[in-house]
Amino acid sequence: MNDFDRRIREAKGGDLESAGITTIQVNVGLKCNQQCGHCHVAASPKRKESMSWDTMKLIIGAAEKIDCRLVDITGGAPELNPHFRRFVEAVDRLQIPVMVRTNLTVLLAPEMETMPQFYRNHNVQLVASLPCYLEENVDRQRGSGVYRKSIEAIRLLNANGYGRDENLRLSLVYNPVGPHLPPNQTTLEADYRRELKNRFDIDFTNLITITNMPIGRYIGDLRKQNKLDDYMQLLKNAFNPATIDGLMCRHQINVDWAGNIYDCDFNLALNMCVDHGAPTHIRDFDPRAHANRRIVTGNHCFGCTAGCGSSCGGALV
Ligand code: SF4
Ligand code: SF4
Repeated sequence: MNDFDRRIREAKGGDLESAGITTIQVNVGLKCNQQCGHCHVAASPKRKESMSWDTMKLIIGAAEKIDCRLVDITGGAPELNPHFRRFVEAVDRLQIPVMVRTNLTVLLAPEMETMPQFYRNHNVQLVASLPCYLEENVDRQRGSGVYRKSIEAIRLLNANGYGRDENLRLSLVYNPVGPHLPPNQTTLEADYRRELKNRFDIDFTNLITITNMPIGRYIGDLRKQNKLDDYMQLLKNAFNPATIDGLMCRHQINVDWAGNIYDCDFNLALNMCVDHGAPTHIRDFDPRAHANRRIVTGNHCFGCTAGCGSSCGGALV
């Protein structure tokens, strides 16, 4: 048993288990136009992994078997999957809300010209990374010039109603530049709103704060800087039992480009499929077995339970 499982048992008197599946998170591929220093799936322009249409059809079949309230599409840059639009259209036809995690800069490519309108037509909720409102911090984490391009893309989305019309949600994502926990989400949201409005006259719906997980490129960086032990200790010391109910793995499954099923995108990055008897491929999706599965954990899970908690939807408490 790992340290995280032990802490969960102490806090809740049992193992971490699914509380029912309301979200299917889909990682449609690892190709990305960026190559960020903290990327937990190590996406880059060179990655070739990409979900096929056949696998997407299996996911749609799984969504029809449960009370699915959200299909959350991520990557890489999801827009670079050749079947991306067809998949969004198919999910929308089932009247299941769609969320897309966009990196913003991909929207500036010439072939993406009609993407904001496509998003609007299908009422897609957008979640976009902007780890700081200051240019220097964003470019340090995500690459030179990324800040300016991200602002341009937000302008484009604002012009299409995103972040301004209450039905067209544009959430921005903050994650710390250094090895520390995110600040209070509500306070930081007010800072973002003020600064982005004053500097660029841009708007967004809400801010999501996410803790950097000690995996992928980020763990490599921590090792290089000799800060991994301190960061792990920080996460463990900040363990907050109040976050357990909301942990995203308890309410979703995550499917990778090849159809393998995980408890979350972080376990995907670590190649830790669902276990404890639940089928590991979407072709064998079993609503009962998956909705009652025990979650596969590791010490990286302390990133989700630290402080106010962290998930793809932001702070948990
Ligand atoms: S963090 Fe997002 S934008 Fe950056 S390389 Fe990874 S998938 Fe691409
Ligand atoms: S890393 Fe994944 S499995 Fe672990 S607590 Fe977070 S969401 Fe759950």
